[in-house]
Amino acid sequence: MSEIAIVTGASRGIGRAVALKLAANGFDVCVNYCANESAALGVVAEIEALGQRAIAVRADVAVEADIVRMFEAVDERLGVVSALVNNAGIIQPQMSLVDMDAARVNKIMQINVTGTIICCREAAKRMSTDLGGVGGVIVNLSSAAAKHGSAGEYVDYAASKGAVDTLTKGIAFELALQGVRVNAVRPGIIDTEIHASGGVPDRFERMGAGLPMGRGGTPEEVADVICYLLSDAASYVTATIVDVAGGR
Ligand code: NAP
Repeated sequence: MSEIAIVTGASRGIGRAVALKLAANGFDVCVNYCANESAALGVVAEIEALGQRAIAVRADVAVEADIVRMFEAVDERLGVVSALVNNAGIIQPQMSLVDMDAARVNKIMQINVTGTIICCREAAKRMSTDLGGVGGVIVNLSSAAAKHGSAGEYVDYAASKGAVDTLTKGIAFELALQGVRVNAVRPGIIDTEIHASGGVPDRFERMGAGLPMGRGGTPEEVADVICYLLSDAASYVTATIVDVAGGR
């Protein structure tokens, strides 16, 4: 029987690449999205073409009830989740600290931090051997920004990813004796649409050349590391944060 994965924000970018790689590795996949249903349905069709089951579930990870409903949909339509990738995340237009307001910061924190914690909670309820589960694996998407701080661009986003690093450690320690491994990856500059949402669509091209490896990364290169962390090859890896940033 196939293992079952939930990938948040899987309609495009890194999440899409993870969903497709997991399907190629024999997982059935819940393709979560927030706004772009047709893109999510496209990913579902690609997964089905690989011979795996997939469902598209709309859930805004900023909304607790949406997350609960998404996990219940997976229970009913796919089965017991064994892998969770907390990929959904946003930036906001680049801005100096002095121009930021609380609404902007709260929105980032709700999606990137609160959403990640609540998704971990729902996964833990199903995976924890203390609660009758058979274990599982969680991978959270942090960012190189957590280390560098993103001064003058989005210190709020960087702080949200610092929180992802910390919650990854804490939740990993809390669940370590309950059959659940929890790790994170810190991508650097990756070729997705997220840069356009920060108001700098050519950021990938502009920043890539200045990186130690002389280029930005692809969503597939990040997905490879995530799929490794989800696999049995990483059976002794937990509470670890892996940089996938070309040396940055
Ligand atoms: P992206 O191309 O902008 O895609 C974002 C995905 O998240 C989309 O599928 C989007 O769905 C979904 N999403 C957005 N808000 C959501 C919400 N409230 N609830 C549920 N889903 C939501 O982003 P990406 O570049 O692939 O980034 C993926 C993750 O990697 C993020 O956590 C990001 O912070 C992290 N990361 C990216 C980079 C990079 O350079 N790309 C670097 C470091 C870290 P809809 O299309 O349906 O709205």
